[in-house]
Amino acid sequence: MAGKSFFIDTTKCTACRGCQAACKQWNQNPGTKTIQRGTYQNPADLSAVTFKLVRFNEAEGPGGEPKWYFFPDQCRHCVYPPCKMAADKKVKGAASLDGRTRAVIFNPKVKVSPADFKTIRESCPYDIPRYDKKAGGMAKCTMCIDRISQGMLPACVKTCPTGTMNFGDREAILKMAAARLEEVKKVHKNASLVNSDSVRVIFLVKDDPKKYHQFAAEDNGKRITRMMALERPFPPINRLDMS
Ligand code: SF4
Ligand code: SF4
Ligand code: SF4
Repeated sequence: MAGKSFFIDTTKCTACRGCQAACKQWNQNPGTKTIQRGTYQNPADLSAVTFKLVRFNEAEGPGGEPKWYFFPDQCRHCVYPPCKMAADKKVKGAASLDGRTRAVIFNPKVKVSPADFKTIRESCPYDIPRYDKKAGGMAKCTMCIDRISQGMLPACVKTCPTGTMNFGDREAILKMAAARLEEVKKVHKNASLVNSDSVRVIFLVKDDPKKYHQFAAEDNGKRITRMMALERPFPPINRLDMS
């Protein structure tokens, strides 16, 4: 288990989008041409050049009042990543797990057919993988593996001015998240840590995760079970080679 993790405390997020801009800058991803869609969220969705997106969702608060639900979305670096399981069945080398950090890394240079990409994207409970049509490869958050291997924080974490974004050793991050949940629950009884056992990017939300984003929470275990049933022969989960 060990490895690294993020803790994203959405109760502190002001939707300044500093993390989104820092991610673009560090990864040298170009800006996306957009149109006014009647929302502050911009661009509309993740893409092969947008690995981090601050989602703006307006929903009813606990008392029926309209409320903003900000959600700085990115790959969750799943503990047992269904995208890698699907990729290993379809295109060897398209996805890998870093041994030290346990980051889930896509190799954008490995060509993936549109049909295989569809299978891989559908395997992800959080709808993260994106396709670079021109290059024919997959793209998503890299956990800033190139920064953290040099002792630096991920660009999104380094930039966040409010303490929403945190990163470190998994055990320390789990402790930090549990302590903060306890504190937030005193005021927001519906607060929770989203799928914290199965992901390395742990969101703290103060209300139903679905109010933040359609794919904010998923039952990763169920998704893996469904995939294993469909895609035999997957080995039992305790014998999966995650190297
Ligand atoms: Fe929220 Fe921090 Fe990102 Fe700003 S930089 S949008 S406060 S997570
Ligand atoms: Fe893969 Fe999706 Fe999990 Fe990221 S969130 S590791 S893309 S299954
Ligand atoms: Fe972007 Fe790096 Fe943050 Fe991933 S860890 S969202 S690649 S800045």
